[in-house]
Amino acid sequence: MKLTILGTATPYPRPDNPCSGYLVQHGDTSIWMDAGTGTLAELQRHIPLDRLDAIWISHAHADHSADLLTAYYALRFSDLKLTRPLPLIGPPGLADRLVGFLGHRAAAVIPEVFEVSEMRGWQERDIGDLTLSWGPMNHGMPAFGLRVQAGARTLTYSGDSAYCEGLVELAEGADLLLCEAGASEHPPAGAVHCTPEDAARIAREAGAKRLVLTHIDLTHSDAPDARTRALAGFASVECALPGQSFTI
Ligand SMILES: [Zn+2]
Ligand SMILES: [Zn+2]
Repeated sequence: MKLTILGTATPYPRPDNPCSGYLVQHGDTSIWMDAGTGTLAELQRHIPLDRLDAIWISHAHADHSADLLTAYYALRFSDLKLTRPLPLIGPPGLADRLVGFLGHRAAAVIPEVFEVSEMRGWQERDIGDLTLSWGPMNHGMPAFGLRVQAGARTLTYSGDSAYCEGLVELAEGADLLLCEAGASEHPPAGAVHCTPEDAARIAREAGAKRLVLTHIDLTHSDAPDARTRALAGFASVECALPGQSFTI
């Protein structure tokens, strides 16, 4: 299985770094995991949009979903040719949100472009050569984490979430845990993101083999600092870089 980092930025894209977006590939199967601002352009360095098998969206924050809008235009009005609606798996309310942005006249056409499935609780679904399992996370809104299995190999992605037992469960024994570190410290009102220490704790408790930090809060810490902080609690830590690929 191959994981390609399309972008990691939070909460807005930076030059050369779109917001959250990743490409997961195994065999003939390709899944675009989170469509943050700027990731559609980066995706095309690796695969045409109409060759994807599915899009999976962790939650409706714009830094994880905004490029769905331009993906719709690309699939509806361009040279790209879908042979069938592209499966789009996302949080509850995603279909209504698309209509809200694209306008009510688009409502009847969206199903020709996206086959939308909204996630409810803990579920599993096979997409081509991959098995996807997801469950609710802790982000102050409907948000999901994802476990992707290709044979015996496992990738877990946190989406956006504070530390929670569900994420530990999703990451159990994962070969690679891609975990957000969107907080430098916990706000008094309650955490909705992981700190680097939280990410390390999740990797440790889950028995993951490798931790890759992403979505790092760069307003308060730089990536090397986040890695150093996580290394205090887990032995194998890297920071995701745009364009980088991992073999799992
Ligand atoms: Zn978020
Ligand atoms: Zn985010």
